[in-house]
This record gives sequence, C-alpha cells and structure tokens, in this order.
Amino acid sequence: SYFEQLGLAEPILRALNDKGYSDPTPIQTQAIPALMEGRDLLGIAQTGTGKTAAFSLPSLHHLAKNPTGRFPSGCRMLVLSPTRELAAQIADNMRGYAKFLDLSVQCIFGGLPASKQARKLVPGCDVLVATPGRLLDLIEQRALTLRHVEIFVLDEADQMMDLGFIKPLARIAAMLPEDRQSLFFSATMPKAIADLGKRFIKNPVRVEV
Ligand code: AMP
Repeated sequence: SYFEQLGLAEPILRALNDKGYSDPTPIQTQAIPALMEGRDLLGIAQTGTGKTAAFSLPSLHHLAKNPTGRFPSGCRMLVLSPTRELAAQIADNMRGYAKFLDLSVQCIFGGLPASKQARKLVPGCDVLVATPGRLLDLIEQRALTLRHVEIFVLDEADQMMDLGFIKPLARIAAMLPEDRQSLFFSATMPKAIADLGKRFIKNPVRVEV
C-alpha cells in the first residue's frame, strides 16, 4: 500500500490494516513524507480529514525507531488539544495506531481530579495528549516536566485562541526544548493564528486541505 511506500514501521502498517485503512487521505499524503524527514508542519485542516493519523503515524514511527526509555514525569511527544473530548479522541486514535508498539499514550484534561491524573504521569509516558490548563496545573505541581519533548503538536489553534488559551500556550512554549519538531494545525489561518504559529514552528512545510 501507499502507507508501506512511506516507510512506516511494520507494526504501524499492521495497525492500519486492522483499522481497514487502505489509502491515505490527502492530508496524510502531503504531510507524512515531510514529517518523516523531521520537518515542522503548518497544517490547515479540519477534523474529519484524517489529520490525527497524519501527525500520529510519522511521530509513532520516530518514537519506536529511536527508543530512549521513559523519563519519570516526562513525555517524548506532547499533543495539545483545546477540549477534553478532542483530547480523549486523539489519545484513543493514537492508542489504536500504537497497539503493536511498546509505546504508552496518556491523556490529561480538566474536570477530573488532578491528583489522579498526576499519578498516571509518575513513570513517564511516550505520548501525552493534554488540554493547556490542566497541563500547566500539573507542571506547577511538579507532576510533569516538558524537558524531554521531542515532538510538539498544537491542534485546533483557532479554537485554542477562541477559548482564551493564548497565554497558557505561550507559557507552555517557553518550557519546550528548542531542539524539537513542531506541528501546528488550524481549521482557519487568519493573521492572528499565523502569528501565533510563528512562535512555535520553524521553516515549516505548509499543507492545506
Ligand atoms: P480525523 O480527521 O483525524 O479526526 O479522522 C477522521 C476519521 O477518519 C477518523 O475516524 C479516522 O479513523 C478516519 N481515517 C483517518 N485516516 C484514514 C484513512 N487513511 N482511511 C480511512 N479512514 C481514515
């Protein structure tokens, strides 16, 4: 399949096969080769286009091919999502794509006791999907560190802005390692969002579907 031609690891191909995906969607065709090369990405795409797999498959491939072990209270990939529903959905999808890999996916969001979520972070994880407010709470409680993040994904940037997450995002960005891969997605790209993106991504490949 085309997914094979992209060079994705065999356990990922098997998971896609189980899901019944035969062909990539347009955003996957455009984004995956650039992401496999480690490029930053600016994606203009809505939910329903297959963007979750577009950012997840090459990232899981990288994490599996470059094992580091887990860092206590750390994560190697951080995905920020504006709402708990979207965060849970992304984490679910990523667990499906990673089911034949030895990678852990955790999800944290507001509305549940922070103490319970903090306990899940103690051993560290490979992928953390989070909403910005709860993420900052847990960092302040020293339950989480962003020191080991290699891949950063900001999803639904326009919704983030509408929900007033700009300040939290700036604080989070300041804690990320300089040397990382960054992906920035938004359904729309007015100037304010494009300016926000410039704070996170460097020389990105631009994909619009
Ligand atoms: P997303 O835009 O990431 O929320 O994905 C929308 C839906 O499309 C999800 O239910 C995915 O499981 C599904 N999907 C993603 N990529 C593919 C693909 N290549 N073939 C078939 N379905 C897909």
